[in-house]
Formats: sequence, C-alpha cells, structure tokens
Amino acid sequence: MKGPNEKRKIVCVLYDDPVEGYPPKYARDSIPTLAAYPDGQLMPSPSGIDFSPGDLLGCVSGELGLRSFLEERGHKFVVMSDKDGADSAFEKELVDADVVISQPFWPAYLTSERIAKAPELKMAITAGIGSDHVDLQAAIDKNITVCEVTFCNSISVSEHTVMMILALVRDYIPQYDWVIKGGWNIADAVARSYDVEGMSIGILGAGRIGFAVLKRMKPFDVELHYTDRHRLPAEVEKEFELTFHEDVESLVQACDIVSIHCPLHPETEHLFDQKLISRMKRGSYIVNTARGKICDRDAVAKALETGHLAGYAGDVWFPQPPPRDHPWRRMPHHAMTPHTSGTSLTAQARYAAGVREILECWFDGKPIRDEYLIVQGGKLAGAGAHSYSEGDATGGSDEAVQFKTKDQ
Ligand code: NDP
Repeated sequence: MKGPNEKRKIVCVLYDDPVEGYPPKYARDSIPTLAAYPDGQLMPSPSGIDFSPGDLLGCVSGELGLRSFLEERGHKFVVMSDKDGADSAFEKELVDADVVISQPFWPAYLTSERIAKAPELKMAITAGIGSDHVDLQAAIDKNITVCEVTFCNSISVSEHTVMMILALVRDYIPQYDWVIKGGWNIADAVARSYDVEGMSIGILGAGRIGFAVLKRMKPFDVELHYTDRHRLPAEVEKEFELTFHEDVESLVQACDIVSIHCPLHPETEHLFDQKLISRMKRGSYIVNTARGKICDRDAVAKALETGHLAGYAGDVWFPQPPPRDHPWRRMPHHAMTPHTSGTSLTAQARYAAGVREILECWFDGKPIRDEYLIVQGGKLAGAGAHSYSEGDATGGSDEAVQFKTKDQ
C-alpha cells in the first residue's frame, strides 16, 4: 500500500488527435462562463487549471490539461489512445497503474480480467458521465474507487438530444443530402417529414439529462411523459405538465418519440429488445444518447427495415468504437453520430477541471464530492448508489478490438 506522498502512475486513455493535426483552428475564441449547474450544484472547483476553456482537451495531445499538474507533483502520467486487445498500449501500461482515467466516448473497458492484471489500481475516473465501461462488480469486490464528473455534460447531451428529435421527425439529413447532391427534390425530401408539435414525447430516466430534455421540449407544445425509478416532485410534474408512467412498457405505448436517459447497468441492459419495440406505435422514433447497449442492436435495425420504427438516432454504440460493419452505420432512417454529444469543447472544459478536482482530493486525502462517487469502500456510493445497480455491463466489450483488426 502506497503512502500519501508516494509517486503514482496515472494511465489516461483519450481519443485520437484530429486527422489534420493538433491543435485545430478553433471556430470561436471563448466559451461562456457559467456560475453553477441548473440545480445549483457547484461547478468543478480544482485549485487551478492549466488550459484555456474551449481548448480541445479530450484527445491524446489535449491530455485533459493535466500533465504539468501531475508532473509537478512527481507523478507519472501516461496518455494513449490504443486501448483494445491484449497487445494494446493500455493493457501494457495497466499492470502498474494506480489510477485509470477514461472517457465514455472512447472507453478503456475495465473488465474484471483487466482489473485482475492491475494489482495497484485504486481508482478509475470517468472523464464524463457513465461508468458502465468499468466492471462495477469487480471494482466493488477489489475496493477500487470509481467516480465520474456528475453534471459536467448533462446539458450538452440534452441539447444534442433535442437536435436529434428534430432531425428525425423533420427528416433533416436526407434534405441536407439533396442540397449536397445538387438537387431540388422537394417531394422526395418531405415524404417522411412531420412536425413535432402535438406529438407525445416519453423520457426514460428523468435525471439531469432527461429532465433537461423535458424542459427544452416543453416550448414545442408537445405532450410530455416520463418514467423513472424515483418520481419527480408533484409541483414539478404540474409545472411541466408531465404524465408519469409506472413502467417503460406503459411509456412506450403512449408515445410517438421515446428518448432514453437512464444509465446502463444490469437492469437496463438490452431493455429495448424486439418485444418492447414491438409494443411501440408503428412509426415511432427512438433517440438514445444514454448507452448503445440499452437497445438490442439487431432489433433496432430490423424495426427500421420493416418500418415499425420511423427513425432512430443517438450517439452511443456498443462496443465503442463499433466495427465498421456495425448495422447501425447503414440501417435506414437513422441519424447517428459518433459518441460526441457529451464532448463538445464546452463540456471538455468542465470535465477536465472535474477530473483534476477529483485527483487533487485523492492525492491530498480529502473527501471526493458525494455526487462524483459511483463506487467507494467496496459498495455503490453517492450518485452510484442512487442511479446504478450492482453487477457488470461490460460483457462483449472485447469486440471493440475489431475496429482496428477486422478487414474493412
Ligand atoms: P442521472 O443520474 O442524473 O439520471 C439518470 C436517471 O435514470 C436517474 O433519474 C435514474 O433514476 C434513472 N434510472 C436509472 N435506472 C433506471 C431504470 N431502470 N428505469 C428508469 N429510470 C432509471 O444521470 P444523467 O442524466 O446525467 O446521465 C444519464 C446517462 O446518460 C448516464 O448514465 C450516461 O449513460 C449517459 N450519458 C451520455 C453522454 C453522452 O455523451 N452521450 C454524456 C453523459 C451521460 P434514480 O436516480 O431516480 O434512481
């Protein structure tokens, strides 16, 4: 067991730099400064930061702005993108790592097998929200602390979700394509285009993101529905004219658009299977910016092909990166993005600062904020105890290696 002042090895897995080099030419010179999160939660509050908010921090050269802070304290900081497969740089560096930092957009899957290869590992930090890439059961069993930067990108994701709802229902992408193709094919372009006004929108998981989506969709004059493990206060339901459903089956039958915002944990894995999707009205839309594995990959593709679903959008896949022949890349009527909603330049400034805050607390033996904790002391803790269930949702993540090995 290392003492408080001993040097640590921090292994950080980040996505690749831009193909045209780092840093990119930024479109804007600054980002807005926010005083607090919408519920009053304090913004990340490290003792300092060594980056300019608005910088690209989530790629390898961005290093989450942590290098000088860590090296000044004498720690070893290793950053890489090569994360999948037994011969990856991550597996090699993991063997003597004290801390692993990873982003859900390019997750370093910490399976029980990998955790077994890392006897020094004390902490796994998610630079973002959603720690399902860590086998939480193994972290519980091995007394590894798991934390994430709660709220850092919740509003970012809610904005992306609203964009996707509109893109699907109004059928934006094919219309954009007609412009690029040099056409003016209005009949083709509007053949699947509807107004959102008057539709019923259902939110699964009315937490930070789900509630922000409800709030943002209200001015569209839609009917708002939700289900959650904990019901919102009656005055909130009244103010936003929300209809609560006891379960997801009831929610999906009542809605035209269903947007998924619960974490991935054993209770929600493959929740949207063929059976649940078949209960949705013909012509429904699903937006999933939560986690790819909450939906059954083949059931979604099939429902789009048969026309039972009118559209599917989201930015989350399983595994990540998905193989180049993943059916969601080419299924009809989709509006998928790579996992980008929570890693806007604006969000990166918050989660980079949040990771530094967590590290400062840990090095200095101070408590980490309760809202950042997922696992601590051999059990679910803080935000994790509220929103997750025990167990493992990393099964199948070893297939992520196909992105780099499989013939394209
Ligand atoms: P919150 O914890 O604020 O909200 C999650 C909500 O889901 C909670 O209200 C929770 O209920 C609810 N929930 C959990 N399990 C169930 C269930 N079985 N049925 C119904 N509701 C359930 O988190 P956020 O809103 O900030 O984030 C939600 C998820 O979005 C993250 O876990 C992550 O997977 C994903 N995410 C995606 C990002 C992206 O870039 N695409 C970025 C950030 C997050 P309760 O707490 O009441 O038990």
